[in-house]
Amino acid sequence: MSHDDHDHHDDHHDHDHGSHLSEVQARVRALESVLTEKGYVDPAVLDQIVEHFETKVGPHVGAKIVARAWADPAFKAALLADASHAVVADETFGRVGDHLVAVENTETQHHMVVCTLCSCYPWDVLGLPPVWYKSAPYRSRVVMDPRGVLADFGVTLPAGTAIRVWDSTAETRYLVLPQRPAGTDGWSEEQLAALVTRNSMIGTGLALQPGEVER
Ligand code: FE
Repeated sequence: MSHDDHDHHDDHHDHDHGSHLSEVQARVRALESVLTEKGYVDPAVLDQIVEHFETKVGPHVGAKIVARAWADPAFKAALLADASHAVVADETFGRVGDHLVAVENTETQHHMVVCTLCSCYPWDVLGLPPVWYKSAPYRSRVVMDPRGVLADFGVTLPAGTAIRVWDSTAETRYLVLPQRPAGTDGWSEEQLAALVTRNSMIGTGLALQPGEVER
């Protein structure tokens, strides 16, 4: 893949082949050029890493993990005890960082994830972070007013449900285990995974209801 191809993956659909790079894009390109010239990085390897995160890693990985936890109580217990260990032990999920922590939503406890400092995110299981996750308003407001942020995402929890906000760091990443929707008894893991949205694993959404997906 040539370097110019990367420009087609941004949000602006700029097809001018590099003539309208944003400041960040220009800086990244300059940095990559310098590091390549000095022999610190191999552009082909960089391309592979970018492609890996754009195509192979995504919320479908986390959704499979959540579906397994819903279907298999032993896996769920292992996941909540040590998510990194539980995920790595099952080769169907692929690689994951050392300090993944899974937190379980219940009727009485809801969890939300943020990185107040920057944009730390469980890339291994959720792929690339959404733009709003990295935005200053989300990062500051979710701590002060989690219920208000949930309302912005169209989510209203029962008044008795407590909300805990987890602050990610470069070392520790969080995966929310959403509540399994009612009416899904006997569903296969594949069917269950289709109910698990990215936002439900960040805590800004809930799992879809059975009527919201095609079986
Ligand atoms: Fe961060």
